[in-house]
Amino acid sequence: MDFSRVYDLLVLGGGNAALCAALTARRAGLSVLVVESAPVHYRGGNSRHTRNLRAMHSGPLDVLKDAYPEEEYWQDLLKVTGGLTDERLARMTIRNTEQHLPWMKDHGVKFQAPLGGTLHLARTNAFFLGGGKALVNAYYAAAESLGVEIAYDTEVIDLEMQGDRFVSATVLRHSLEHVVRAKTVVAASGGFESNLEWLREAWGPAADNFLIRGTPYNRGKVLKLLHEKGAKSVGDATQGHCVAIDARSPKFDGGIVTRVDAVSLGIVVNKHCKRFYDEGEDFWPKRYAIWGRLVAAEADQIAYSIIDAKSMGKFMPPVYPPLKASSIGELAAVLKLDRGALEKTVAEFNAAVRPGTFDHTILDDCATAGLAPAKTHWARAIDTPPFFAYPLRPGITFTYLGVGIDGKARMLMDDGKPSANVFAAGEIMAGNVLGKGYLAGIGMAIGTTFGRIAGEEAARHVRG
Ligand SMILES: Cc1cc2nc3c(=O)[nH]c(=O)nc-3n(C[C@H](O)[C@H](O)[C@H](O)COP(=O)(O)OP(=O)(O)OC[C@H]3O[C@@H](n4cnc5c(N)ncnc54)[C@H](O)[C@@H]3O)c2cc1C
Repeated sequence: MDFSRVYDLLVLGGGNAALCAALTARRAGLSVLVVESAPVHYRGGNSRHTRNLRAMHSGPLDVLKDAYPEEEYWQDLLKVTGGLTDERLARMTIRNTEQHLPWMKDHGVKFQAPLGGTLHLARTNAFFLGGGKALVNAYYAAAESLGVEIAYDTEVIDLEMQGDRFVSATVLRHSLEHVVRAKTVVAASGGFESNLEWLREAWGPAADNFLIRGTPYNRGKVLKLLHEKGAKSVGDATQGHCVAIDARSPKFDGGIVTRVDAVSLGIVVNKHCKRFYDEGEDFWPKRYAIWGRLVAAEADQIAYSIIDAKSMGKFMPPVYPPLKASSIGELAAVLKLDRGALEKTVAEFNAAVRPGTFDHTILDDCATAGLAPAKTHWARAIDTPPFFAYPLRPGITFTYLGVGIDGKARMLMDDGKPSANVFAAGEIMAGNVLGKGYLAGIGMAIGTTFGRIAGEEAARHVRG
């Protein structure tokens, strides 16, 4: 790449949203430079951790079965966000997903049959063969063959704006600063989930116990700069996608294999051995994203998912083996919990379980009675040794604080007017659609939709 050149489009970031924008703009004839702060082997941000994209479809579509109409998708989103969503942008996201699968395949992405376990996604989510890493590699290969220029190890550290117009970005590459000019820019550099100081500002000392599931490179530098330069802020710094992951996971980048999917099959207790939420409230894909916040609200941000032998093999096993014991008392000792307190909680739970027909594929009739909090589905006595436990910590996936956009993916300024030449896509604007909560597979849906729109609109802008 040539930093002295004026590119038609400069793309900030190198994940899914960035590559969707870069590919689209390049196909429309623009000269495109992608600046990715990670080195080549780390390229692709959180996108390289993904497995699937949620897509609407009016009939069977590729690997997707039956139909998943717009209205059902919208209602699912409405439920998890509690209405904290921009309906116009949300419906745009949803409608566009129907076109994504063929476009993705055209750019080298392959799909596979859905996975089983506690995921009920065969109808709604298209799984990438080889996961997000293969998707990212396919997009980079397509981008390179189309002539998109890519600068790895290149971090955006400053932006020059004249009012609502982008002029240049200062990037740091191998300890040297360069000023890069372009006619348009797409901000696709993720949220601020890897910025531990910013997380602490938002969450207080509890954030010190959070683990970051994805890339260590999404530090929110571009987001902060855009806010400072007058971009409209959307979302709340404490909102985001946060799941319960194995407490033994690394601080960064543990990825999907650290998620604990056993929760809905057993009980979850805090460090005082108390249950604190209905583990069987809804299907796991619709509930897993609330468990990080729930654990974050408990003492020392630690909890324990406890199951018995009956549940083994019924969920996708995480990478760490469970802690195991032949009695609940022994399990308490292994977990360094109060033995009597854990035995009491499990005994009370078991006594409250009403007879039912266990079926993990439906919202079954196995529930507790007279217990607070209740377990409303899949409640079975924890009585069959050996007993197993997974220690849980909040695992931040991505944050929702972002910049406002309009339907053309143009970044909005503080006065609500669109910027002249700044577009945004992916996590950095996901808060427009996700005020809170999460729906499995919508992160990639948002990034693909607005990445492609940003690429198209950048091309329209450059052509005049
Ligand atoms: C473990 C895990 C599993 C997930 N699974 C799914 C799933 O199955 N389906 C789904 O829909 N979503 C999933 N998500 C969420 C999904 O990853 C995101 O919603 C989506 O990838 C966001 O894409 P993006 O392009 O906005 O961000 P990213 O893919 O994170 O890309 C951001 C890029 O910006 C770069 N960057 C950051 N700062 C700078 C800077 N200052 N200068 C230059 N570059 C910079 C980063 O290096 C990175 O390449 C998952 C996330 C994680 C962590």
